[in-house]
Amino acid sequence: MEDQFKPARRQFLKIGGAAIAMIPVAALTGNALAATNAGMRASMKYQDTPLGDKDCSNCIQFVPGKTPKDLGGCKLFPGDTEVSPKGYCAAWVKK
Ligand code: SF4
Repeated sequence: MEDQFKPARRQFLKIGGAAIAMIPVAALTGNALAATNAGMRASMKYQDTPLGDKDCSNCIQFVPGKTPKDLGGCKLFPGDTEVSPKGYCAAWVKK
C-alpha cells in the first residue's frame, strides 16, 4: 500500500527541487535591488569570466544593462540582475 504513494512523493521532491533552484537569492552587495539566482548559476556552472570568445554579451539569452559594460540579466536566470557581460555559462548560445 505504501508503494502507491512513492511516485507522487518522488514527483513532489523533483518539483520542489526545481522550484528552489528558481528562487532568486538577494546578493549581499549592499544594493537592495541586486539579486542573483544562485540555484540556476550553480546548475549552469556560471562564471564571471568568459570562455575564449564566448561571453554573456554575445549570448542570445543575455539581457543587457544600461550600458554595454553594466551588469544585466539572463533569460535563463529568473530574477538575477547581476549577470556580467563578460560572464559565461554552460547554456551559452551565439547571438
Ligand atoms: S545563458 Fe549563460 S552565457 Fe548566456 S547570458 Fe545567460 S549566463 Fe550568460
